[in-house]
Amino acid sequence: MSDASRLAQARALDAADPLASLRAQFALPVDETGRELTYLCGHSLGLAPLAARRRVEEELDDWARLGVEGHHRARRPWIAYAELLQGGLARLAGAQPSEVVAMNSLTVNLHLMMASFYRPQGQRIAIVVEEGAFSSDRHAVVSQIQWHGLDPAQALIEIAPPPGEDLIDESQLTELLAARGAEVALVLWPGVQYRTGQAFNLPRIAEAAHRAGALCGFDLAHGIGNTPLALHDDGADFAVWCGYKYLNGGPGALGGAFVHERHPRGAVPGLAGWWGHDPATRFRMEPGFRPAPGAQGWQVSNPPILSTAPLLASLDLFEQAGGHRLHAKARGLTAFLEAALRERLDGVLQVVTPSNARGCQLSLRVRAGRETGRRAFDRLTALGIAADWREPDIIRVAAVPLYNRYEDLALLLDALERALLTP
Ligand SMILES: *Cc1c(COP(=O)(O)O)cnc(C)c1O
Repeated sequence: MSDASRLAQARALDAADPLASLRAQFALPVDETGRELTYLCGHSLGLAPLAARRRVEEELDDWARLGVEGHHRARRPWIAYAELLQGGLARLAGAQPSEVVAMNSLTVNLHLMMASFYRPQGQRIAIVVEEGAFSSDRHAVVSQIQWHGLDPAQALIEIAPPPGEDLIDESQLTELLAARGAEVALVLWPGVQYRTGQAFNLPRIAEAAHRAGALCGFDLAHGIGNTPLALHDDGADFAVWCGYKYLNGGPGALGGAFVHERHPRGAVPGLAGWWGHDPATRFRMEPGFRPAPGAQGWQVSNPPILSTAPLLASLDLFEQAGGHRLHAKARGLTAFLEAALRERLDGVLQVVTPSNARGCQLSLRVRAGRETGRRAFDRLTALGIAADWREPDIIRVAAVPLYNRYEDLALLLDALERALLTP
């Protein structure tokens, strides 16, 4: 297909897209000359909803106008601010509202969850992770093992893809759990692998962990707002996420956590602070800790209102879009991109992300290796494509259904051809 007919096809698909109008609700980044970038980096930092500015300004105004009274009298009283996110997050997570809480950032939440759900005992001391886990998750897991006075050489089990492959099959995990399950205290697994874009079968993983007598937690940094989730029915014990990738909450935005309702905070040990205390009696400031119901009992501190406000704006847009339409569009966008890549760049780029298990991220390996890949990536950047590079040879792009167009992918394909096929 020629570049011109591909662009025409992309524009026709955009014209038929029921979600096309949502793009206008986001600020689109530009380069130094003011030219709009082709933004394909929502897997790293989601774009700013235009309404985020107004939401933040409202809180600044209420702070200026009311001072401390804003806790009760702001248009959205700060005292219950995090609860405003519960409904929207619960729908994205596939959970009961009481099972989710907006708090902290991802790694902090991971520590809080492991404080409650990594309880090594006797022979059952191991945490199972994937070998290519995100650095922060690995640091958190290793430090938790050491915190318990244990040796990561004994208590960390890592599962790698088969030699020469990129993807881990869930059967590797189920086989490991069948063989060594009695050693395993916790399985910690990503919803979507950050480097490959592979989405995992979460109910299968939770079921295998439980069958082995272990608990199961999910890191949904790249899952929430991207793939369909059903955490309650899937039976996860806990999950954590950040607010700034597909949730578009802004840099360092408030993250969140899920705790299954089978684990009331009062029945599980954990690290406490005043915000996890039952709101009805929190301000009596009494010494005894009575946990708030559900996941809210894991809160420690009062939430940062200014970095929570943009999330409200973003969750409104998720509500308008609807999960089914978003996931259908993500499938359409990624299928369009993958088909064109296979047609034009098959010998040059390998699509690492599996076609049948992914969200909207595609990871593209430059077959010629690091040096050629790095040069091509720099050319893409100069051509106005915002994507990212993962060592040693991967270009990651996300086609985010809330704001990306088929046309963005046609522009990406043109740029990839120029970057990779011209000397
Ligand atoms: C983005 C990301 C993080 C970031 O952690 P923060 O604590 O929010 O800085 C951690 N883990 C994974 C898998 C991520 O993708």
